[in-house]
Amino acid sequence: MTTTASSTALADLKRRLNLVSDLSAAGGLMNWDQETQMPKDAARVRGLQMASLAGLQHELFTGDETKNLLEAAEQQGAQSEIDADLLRVTRRDFDKATKLPTAFVEELVQAQNEAHHAWIKARADSDFAHFAPFLQHNLDLTRRYAELIGYDEHPYDALLDDYEPGMKTAQVREIFADLRERTLPLLKKIVAAGDAGDYGVLSRPFPAAAQREFSLKVAEEAFGLLPSFSRLDISAHPFQTNFSADDLRITTRFDEQYFPMSLFGTWHETGHAMYEHGVSRELERTPLSRGASLGVHESQSRMFENLLGRSRTFWRRYFDEFAEAAPDVAAGQDAEAIYRAVNRVEPSLIRVEADEVTYNFHIMLRFELELSLMEGQLTVADLPAAWNAKMQEYIGLTPPNDAEGVLQDVHWSAGLIGYFPTYTLGNLLSVQLLDAARQDSQIAAATDRADYAPLREWLRVNVHQYGRRRTPGQIVEGATGQALSADAYVKYLHEKYGDIYGLE
Ligand code: ZN
Repeated sequence: MTTTASSTALADLKRRLNLVSDLSAAGGLMNWDQETQMPKDAARVRGLQMASLAGLQHELFTGDETKNLLEAAEQQGAQSEIDADLLRVTRRDFDKATKLPTAFVEELVQAQNEAHHAWIKARADSDFAHFAPFLQHNLDLTRRYAELIGYDEHPYDALLDDYEPGMKTAQVREIFADLRERTLPLLKKIVAAGDAGDYGVLSRPFPAAAQREFSLKVAEEAFGLLPSFSRLDISAHPFQTNFSADDLRITTRFDEQYFPMSLFGTWHETGHAMYEHGVSRELERTPLSRGASLGVHESQSRMFENLLGRSRTFWRRYFDEFAEAAPDVAAGQDAEAIYRAVNRVEPSLIRVEADEVTYNFHIMLRFELELSLMEGQLTVADLPAAWNAKMQEYIGLTPPNDAEGVLQDVHWSAGLIGYFPTYTLGNLLSVQLLDAARQDSQIAAATDRADYAPLREWLRVNVHQYGRRRTPGQIVEGATGQALSADAYVKYLHEKYGDIYGLE
């Protein structure tokens, strides 16, 4: 094959990938509209329209022409590092997308749909038995999925790899065991110390419009989310999406009697958005043009939400502006009081409401149960009892019913097994990255005055710009000089909460 012909193959492949990316963006925009703007009655046809777009996207990407262009481009070899990365990631995506027979994909989608409806009813009635057969079906299909995709050691590796490329089950097991051993005693100590704090301040009135204005002001000034490339809207379940690195959409929801929900939620989604904004424009409209994994993504959102937004220095810097926006909340309070209130540690049954110390135990519990189910050591019928036992062991509470226990999350109904660990991996990585950035004394000094511009630039250079060019493991090693571990997070929790709760 001549160079000219092959160069054309790469150019043609890129054009095709651009088209796939554009269809994906169009589908994403339809979905964003559905969650934020669309009139309720439009749902039925919108669902069909989105399915058509998704089908078209899948056909274009997995079709013979893509296969032929990819092979031709591979034969010639890449002329640049970016092209080499593009070919490698495209090959990975293509092989995965074409390993599943169409009939299997259809069965999967239908089973997940049915399971989702069953879960909604089961949760409303707190009736696990209603959900059990659907969960069993999802689980059976998940096992088949792992066999079709393939794995070296553990079928769970195949699931994990969809969300955290390259991460192995054995590695997660090891990191989680270490984290559990070193933070469960801390949680027990905090609970034993008793908490005399007054948290009534969190439920004082703060009008939605003022919450919006304050949270966006911080998102812009502290975290760099400018209105020229972003929007904030309201949705039932907050999320971030984007249609290019310069078209970022985040959503939130407001509770006028509980301001932390929208404030920290908005800053969380801002972290996700700024990651996408930092991806190199050279990768635009290709499979490389988004974050490397869910875990790396979550490290960015958690950093803004918790490590910065829930820091003492942040509240010292922003208390006066907060007081101006929320005079009822701030009356008789100071920065230290708000700092302590928003960092309350309170073991509770619900994952999404969990504080920094207890959150990871909710994840470990789910990870361990998923493994037991996949390995066949635990049956679906025994799942609620196993859930409750682990809840008691880790959190010290037993759910009064399955709605507040095993039925609380949407993930398993949607077939998302292997997804939960990425939340904790993101938490661990957030601190490991922040520690690495703070090795630079100027970044540390600026961060300590709640000036996060130098930190953001460090994140852009060390994490964001690569998009999917590097695996999560390569990003962590490159940015921090070490593999991911629980060390930094364990130290962070002990220092922060040892101080707040007067331990040691
Ligand atoms: Zn997130």
